[in-house]
Amino acid sequence: KTVAITFDDGPGRNTTPELLDGLKERNVPAAFFVVGENIEGNEDIIRRMHDEGHIIGNHTFTHVELDKLSENAALTEVSKTNAAIEKITGEKVKYIRPPCGSWDEELYYKIDMTPVFWSVDPKDWCTDNVSVSVSRVMEQTKDGDIILFHDIYDTSVTAALEVIDRLQTRGYRFVTLDDLLIE
Ligand code: ZN
Repeated sequence: KTVAITFDDGPGRNTTPELLDGLKERNVPAAFFVVGENIEGNEDIIRRMHDEGHIIGNHTFTHVELDKLSENAALTEVSKTNAAIEKITGEKVKYIRPPCGSWDEELYYKIDMTPVFWSVDPKDWCTDNVSVSVSRVMEQTKDGDIILFHDIYDTSVTAALEVIDRLQTRGYRFVTLDDLLIE
């Protein structure tokens, strides 16, 4: 049984490093869909994600719903974020997660990137109750799922690490998006 865990809206100076420590301890790869405007001042965190084998994806520059923008504005949101990431990692950004899942299929033909959605959503951003987020994930998760968390809240970091421990106990293996999407 394999799953992938993904984190949106970061990096967060006060939360993401602790999450990275926890992932490293558990030897679990993740994907981080970062907001472009959060990168400045947090370049070290992006570099660390990359060095520790995590995938870094695009979550637009200002966290906008892409299908509400003109095509030019949408393309700018995407390309500015890619440039900010690529400047640090030296690698092309492959995946995009559109904020709120708002994706215009037309964009697919203009952007050479794979949109990645999610299948397990604990809505961790609207509760500060760790055990609520944890049990939502434990109830929903099945083989092949993509789990969504947000790495800008302390409670989300705690919940995500607990979810990892519990799913591993149930026999789940955490894989990268590359591996999950190929299978
Ligand atoms: Zn988001």
